[in-house]
Amino acid sequence: MTTSLADDRESPEIGRAMHGFITDLYPICRSITGEGVRETLRKIGARIPLEIVEVPTGTAVFDWSIPKEWNIRDAYIKNGRGERIVDFRNSNLHVLNYSVPVHRKVSRAELSEHVFTLPDRPEWIPYRTSYYKENWGFCISHRLWEGMDEAEYEVCIDSSLAAGFLTYGECFLRGETDEEVLLSCHICHPSLCNDNLSGVALATFLAEALGRIRTRYSYRFLFIPGTIGAIAWLHRNEAGVGRIRHGLVIACVGVPGPFTYKKSRRGNSGIDAAVVHVLGHSGREHQIRDFTPYGYDERQYCSPGFNLPVGALSRTPHGEYPEYHTSEDNLDLVRPAALAESLRIAQSVIEVLEKNRRYRNLNPKCEPRLGARGLYSSIGGRADIKTMEFALLWVLNYSDGRHTLLDIAERSGYPFGRISEAAELLAGHGLLEECCLEKEVTST
Ligand code: ZN
Repeated sequence: MTTSLADDRESPEIGRAMHGFITDLYPICRSITGEGVRETLRKIGARIPLEIVEVPTGTAVFDWSIPKEWNIRDAYIKNGRGERIVDFRNSNLHVLNYSVPVHRKVSRAELSEHVFTLPDRPEWIPYRTSYYKENWGFCISHRLWEGMDEAEYEVCIDSSLAAGFLTYGECFLRGETDEEVLLSCHICHPSLCNDNLSGVALATFLAEALGRIRTRYSYRFLFIPGTIGAIAWLHRNEAGVGRIRHGLVIACVGVPGPFTYKKSRRGNSGIDAAVVHVLGHSGREHQIRDFTPYGYDERQYCSPGFNLPVGALSRTPHGEYPEYHTSEDNLDLVRPAALAESLRIAQSVIEVLEKNRRYRNLNPKCEPRLGARGLYSSIGGRADIKTMEFALLWVLNYSDGRHTLLDIAERSGYPFGRISEAAELLAGHGLLEECCLEKEVTST
């Protein structure tokens, strides 16, 4: 089986390409519904096979209902001289996302009820939404608002909120088994980069890379509006979620901060072990957190009625960097090197999932003679011959049909790749046989 993603890892271009893709998606005014989502999905679909799903307004999805579809063409605030002092064409963050249409003159006092600023960051534009309460509003820099001293302004939001659809995209890559790995990211934010065009780029590039190789698992990538998209997907796909063996929600992976992994609600899923292992051997600063019922769409995947083995991979998490949900989460904040590094970590996790197995030692009574079986000549000449020898002994000893290779890697302290290589070598010399897919272990 070909599972190596090494070619992609080594490419120095990959981070710049990911950043270029983010640059392409950045200007689009996205929301949880509407043309911005469709345009974004078209651009993703130009790179990977993507099925577009449209769920009609009013469709009941568990305790929720698909909202009206929102679209926007233009918005501004004009001063007494008819000048646009706030212009949607300069930044789509200027409009309270999901604003209902408005076009009239308002007093400054009334406008103040509809203006959002960040007094602590007077030059920045905040990002605000009002999906489920009909309202209109403008998000502007505090500096600008302080200078707006006219008694009356003309406000215009040329938007529509009407029956339509919620749109999401799904990329399915069939592997050798029906067992699935779910990778999910949200696509509902307008011009914001780390949260979460970084996740969109990572998922897209990962799907591209996986599409080029044979895999044991099937891979399902979801590009969905946050919360309501995950709820809608789970509602429509409830019958198939039992095939999901591992899953990751990907968000905020474009800044150089430490990696943060939030475990699945189960806390001991295969994905939890795989990510903890990869980060532990990455040489990168990182932190592991237990599940909490807030955050991104892991909240839905890990709701008690599903309790799927889905964790969340980020760098500095949402809400913990100052630029979060502001105009400063822009193309300068996300860095090509950080994007490439995040992709590399995700690929390493997938390599562990793909290659993790249980073996049985076919010569379990006392140690086999490795030299006589040609094992030493197989590893002879390597600089790491001693550690490779130890890895062989670890795999032989713990391949009792119960321990997975990841268990053995954790117990030995060696990186998974070395243990996996040792197992392949031993299997190739007739000393190990594969027991079964790793699922039978993790499901107990
Ligand atoms: Zn967000």
